[in-house]
Parts: sequence; structure tokens; C-alpha cells
Amino acid sequence: MNANGATYCPTCGAELVARRIEGRDRRYCPACERPWYRNPKPCAGTLVVDGSSVLLVQRTQPPAVGSWSVPAGYLEHDEPPHEAAARELEEETGLVVDPAAIDLFDTAFVGHDDGTHVLVILYAVGRAATEGTPQAGSDADGASFWASDALTAEAPLEPGYRELLQRVIERYGDAG
Ligand SMILES: [Zn+2]
Repeated sequence: MNANGATYCPTCGAELVARRIEGRDRRYCPACERPWYRNPKPCAGTLVVDGSSVLLVQRTQPPAVGSWSVPAGYLEHDEPPHEAAARELEEETGLVVDPAAIDLFDTAFVGHDDGTHVLVILYAVGRAATEGTPQAGSDADGASFWASDALTAEAPLEPGYRELLQRVIERYGDAG
């Protein structure tokens, strides 16, 4: 991989070349005679709101290791996003929710240091619609409810999420 994506064609293994296509510099396979398009990777997560707090997990993987973030993960290739969001919630926090019970809330678009981008599809649900007690899964260091203004320098929120958390608490919390 380089800053532009793959070096070799994922289909035939030929070396990709640079080519201007549809107004952008893209990688192109001369053997397959087609561009190798780069797309953001879809990811899905569930925001569980209890009172004026939202359930977050402490990250063990880049980016922002050690910060608190939304329980979310990559979709399997054949998995609808609401099912992925419910699965990731259970894997990372132990809470079980019916995928049909979560509402589509918003999206986030996150750039990583390696030049890739992730499209995060975020669902929301009230705590009462979930079952279980929050417990950090194998790929989280912690899982607990936080008020949006309670996160500090010692327990930072992953950058870019504060306004979104305030909004989901307003809509799904006690005041909503
Ligand atoms: Zn090829």
C-alpha cells in the first residue's frame, strides 16, 4: 500500500499505474483495463442513552488509543448496518439489543493517519430497550456510561464526537 492505495491489482496482481480518471488521480490496472477505486470503509455503531449519559468504550486500537468512543466496528461484507451495530454493541459492551429496535441517528466521517477514511453509521436507542450490564469486551478496555461533559484530559473523548453525544442525549435521554 502507499498513500494512493494498493500498489498491485487486487484482481490480477499486475502493477497499478497512475491515471487521471473522472477528474481525479486514480490507480489503474493496465491488464484488467480498469481503475481501482478507493472507497471509505463502512462501520456501524450504537449509542445507548441512559438518563443524561451515553455508553462509551475505551479504545484499544488506533486511532485515539485510550480515549472513550462509540461502540462500533466494521460491517461484514453481507451484513446490514443495523445488524452490525447491534452485534458490535454486544461484542464491545455486553449489552444486547434487537437490531429492529435501534434508530438510525447520524453518520460520522473519520480520517485515519494512513490516509484511509471510515464512514460510521450511528444508531441510537434508550437504555430500557437493551438487556444486560455493561462489561468491556475483548477489544475494549472499558465500557461505561458517561455524561457528555464528564470526560476529562485523563479520560478523553475521541475527537469529533462531543456535539453528537450532546445531541443524542437530548433526543433519547430523560429530557428528550
Ligand atoms: Zn488487474
